[in-house]
Amino acid sequence: MKLIHPCPCGSEQEYDVCCRPFHRGAAPENALLLMRSRYSAYVLNLPEYIVATTHPASPQYSDDKFTWKRSISRFSRGSSFLRLDILDFKEQDTLATVTFTVHLSQRGQDATFTEKSHFEKLGPRWFYRSGQLMQGKAPNLVTTGQLRLLPLAYYGDAVLKEKAAPIVEITSDLKKLVEEMIETMDACEGIGLAAPQVHHSLRLFVMRKPMETDSDRMELGEVNVFINPKLSQFSEETWEAPEGCLSIPTFRAAVKRPKEVTVEYTSLDGKTHKERFIGWEAKVIFHENDHLDGILFTDRLELKQQERLKPFLQNLAKRIHDGRAL
Ligand SMILES: [Zn+2]
Ligand SMILES: [Zn+2]
Repeated sequence: MKLIHPCPCGSEQEYDVCCRPFHRGAAPENALLLMRSRYSAYVLNLPEYIVATTHPASPQYSDDKFTWKRSISRFSRGSSFLRLDILDFKEQDTLATVTFTVHLSQRGQDATFTEKSHFEKLGPRWFYRSGQLMQGKAPNLVTTGQLRLLPLAYYGDAVLKEKAAPIVEITSDLKKLVEEMIETMDACEGIGLAAPQVHHSLRLFVMRKPMETDSDRMELGEVNVFINPKLSQFSEETWEAPEGCLSIPTFRAAVKRPKEVTVEYTSLDGKTHKERFIGWEAKVIFHENDHLDGILFTDRLELKQQERLKPFLQNLAKRIHDGRAL
């Protein structure tokens, strides 16, 4: 006789043959199995598994693994998990979505939620990339509020080294691309995203206007769309502040940029503009415009620093392309 341990993911299989192999390092063949095994990892309080299966571009990703694992563990210990319902699963090439309801309670209160999770495959492995909370709990909400995320290009991808081509016409395809870029930028909590970063070698980037507030936290404002931007009249005054890039996950470094710049560009409605940008806005514009010329912010660091970074970046590219993002 053998004691049966049903898998917490609700598959009605034994844990040993269901989620346990994944928790021990086997790669789930699809995003649905990854989703189920992440749920059972939450139930069993296995924060290492959550960390190891989170995409580095995810808003949840943190370099401070210790604090991150502790907060996952706190969530696991503070929740009574009742049931997982899968409502929807879609997969296309390297992207997938799973919509599900988790029935749970916290401190005796119902904390059931429905989420649409996005997954991306890096090399042979699937990773959790972001989640969108759905209103209410009804399964018929699955088709609403669809996020359309684009696969990101990462350090080492050739498209990030190319000089992007000018846009000759604002077509409906271009408008769709811009919408998807904005959703991708927001889902990754970015403040700027250039078309080459989503595998389109076009002179286009989007920016969510950073608004400096009194507090330390920067708030994000409306979106600007820059088509065929031309930068001029760089201020002589420069300043230095840290930058990160969705294409180089986990890395940040201070970059010196001119404080002000004038930009001539076309917006999505076809109108041309000439505007002066200052501070953070100018910084985002310099960073994104560089992407259109195949330049990454790491190329703007001092040569000595670039030399020291080389092994790290080569390793990062290898890890991402082998699907060993961590
Ligand atoms: Zn399972
Ligand atoms: Zn970037």
